[in-house]
Parts: sequence; C-alpha cells; structure tokens
Amino acid sequence: MNLTDVSADLANVLYTQEQIDARIAEMAAQIDQDYADKNLLMVGILNGAVMTMADLSRSLTIHCEMDWMAISSYGSGVSSSGVVRILKDMNTSIVGRDVLIVEDIVDTGLTLSYLVENLRSRNPASIEIAAAFRKPEALKKQVDVKYVGFDIPNEFVVGFGLDYAGKYRNLRGLGVLSPKVYA
Ligand code: 5GP
Repeated sequence: MNLTDVSADLANVLYTQEQIDARIAEMAAQIDQDYADKNLLMVGILNGAVMTMADLSRSLTIHCEMDWMAISSYGSGVSSSGVVRILKDMNTSIVGRDVLIVEDIVDTGLTLSYLVENLRSRNPASIEIAAAFRKPEALKKQVDVKYVGFDIPNEFVVGFGLDYAGKYRNLRGLGVLSPKVYA
C-alpha cells in the first residue's frame, strides 16, 4: 500500500518509504560497526516492529539472530494506556547476550522502560534500543534509545508497521492519521 492509496486518510505525509529506507541503512551501518565483534540478538516487539526488524536486519552486513516479544500497548485506541503486560515472551535465553531491542516507535517510553528493566534482570551482556521513530515531546519516562530513525512531532502516525485499529501497517511510508478517521 502506498501513501497515495490512503491520502484521504492522512493529515500529512512525514516520510516516504525511500526516506525511511535511506535512514534505516544509516542505522544499520552504525549497528554493523558497534556489533562487529559481538554476537547480536535482535528482539523485535510485535506487531509494530515487524517492518523495522525486517528492513534493519536485512541492511546489516553482520550476522544476527532474531527473536520476538509481544507486549500490551495501545489496543485499538490512540493514546497510551500505561499498562504494560508481556503477552508473548522470547524463545531465546539472553544470559550473556548482546541484545538489541527493535521497536517501531518510542512515544511515552513507558513500554520500553518497563521492558529494559525486565530484560536487564535476565543478565544479558548488554541491552540497547533501536527505534524507527521517536516522539520527544511525548516522553514520560526517560529511555536511552541508542539508534533512532527519526524524531517526529507528537501526533498519531500510521504506516511502516504502525497501525490504527489493525490497519495501515502495510503502508509504505509514514503519515499523520487524519483525526476524522478516528473521530
Ligand atoms: P509508549 O509506551 O512509548 O507510549 O508506546 C509504545 C507503543 O505505542 C508503540 O510500540 C506503538 O505500538 C504505540 N504507539 C505509540 N505512538 C504511536 C503512534 O503515533 N501511532 C501508532 N500507530 N502507534 C503508536
């Protein structure tokens, strides 16, 4: 699905898929360097991080393993519930591993700060975070995101894995959802 296919639903376009691709390639180059002599385990947060994980991992020139977690976030609404629950845990032990959490977007930071704390208690060698997007103005809990694609305005966005009520995840690019869609 392209931005033009749903232009009536978008208040504005933030990034085209080409712009996202270019930025993901830069992030991957940095991760290549930082993890050159490590044994990288990328942990994607379902469902939103599927596209970020797919593109970021394939842009790497080094090997990586992948695993997935599902945690509760927005449901079908558009504002953070603050309730964080593990719905699906990883299959891999992370003891002594270099873990890179792969997230679609950092909004309030509540989800990630909980997750980092939880994963730290499992004794990995290191934990870092990569997120395609971040909303600096929405941050409620400080989280150290080492690899950020784009800092974006504090608005509800869809595309590149990010949904509204299950839709728009397959949208190539990122746009601000028009309020009339959820009014
Ligand atoms: P946080 O805990 O940082 O507030 O929220 C993280 C999760 O909320 C993200 O992984 C994502 O699933 C969801 N989220 C936050 N902001 C947005 C947004 O603008 N659009 C969509 N579709 N989901 C969002």
